[in-house]
Amino acid sequence: MADCIVAETVVAIDGPAGSGKSSVSKEAARRLGYAYLDTGAAYRALAWLQLDRGLDAGDPAVVIGSLSEFDLDLGVDPDDYYVRVGPDDVTAAIREPWVTSEVSLVARLPEVRAHLTALFRSMVEAASQPGIVVEGRDITTVVAPDATARILLTASEEARMGRRSKELVDQSAAVVGEQLRSRDRADSRVVDFMNAADGVTTVDSTELDFGQTVSAVVDVVQRALLRTIHG
Ligand code: C5P
Repeated sequence: MADCIVAETVVAIDGPAGSGKSSVSKEAARRLGYAYLDTGAAYRALAWLQLDRGLDAGDPAVVIGSLSEFDLDLGVDPDDYYVRVGPDDVTAAIREPWVTSEVSLVARLPEVRAHLTALFRSMVEAASQPGIVVEGRDITTVVAPDATARILLTASEEARMGRRSKELVDQSAAVVGEQLRSRDRADSRVVDFMNAADGVTTVDSTELDFGQTVSAVVDVVQRALLRTIHG
């Protein structure tokens, strides 16, 4: 009985840039023995493809057309994470600043969002692990509003900028801060990921270290599973 309930477990995690969403979600998936789906990587890979091939990233027909030519392949094992576009492994390239600064262009197109949402849902259904952690901006509200556990992972703007600056050591804190703010502004015109929707639990990591944040997320999942089992 418990196995059957666990087999349907979807953990939806949303949050702004620099909230630690990706690393926290991946580690939470590891601890829970679940799959891990990084939806931002799909948007990044699409942006990379448009830029690499010199395509028009603002034209939905072009962007979706490019997807029928080059398969998007995302690894969902948290210990074997990769992102591939056709024959290219773009796992590292999609994190480069030139991709990050263009990704919102692709992400704001409703046709592209609908296309990727369908892809994410099919990946959730196909996952062979007992559950899956799906992270992004619209997972709790659009991609998986019926998820077992729905979490908004936030942190103060200052904390988010501090963390991003540590990751991007070759850029000044001021530049990193401005990029983060402008991406959040562009993204929040499309989906609200700064406020928790009804039924979504907020985990604020401002005062938490990495391990504490992962534990807080796993706690929310375990409480949600208990609720599912006990009704
Ligand atoms: O999470 P990450 O920073 O990798 O996301 C990259 C970009 O992909 C975001 O800035 C946003 O434009 C887009 N995105 C989205 N919806 C998602 C995940 C990411 O629009 N579910």
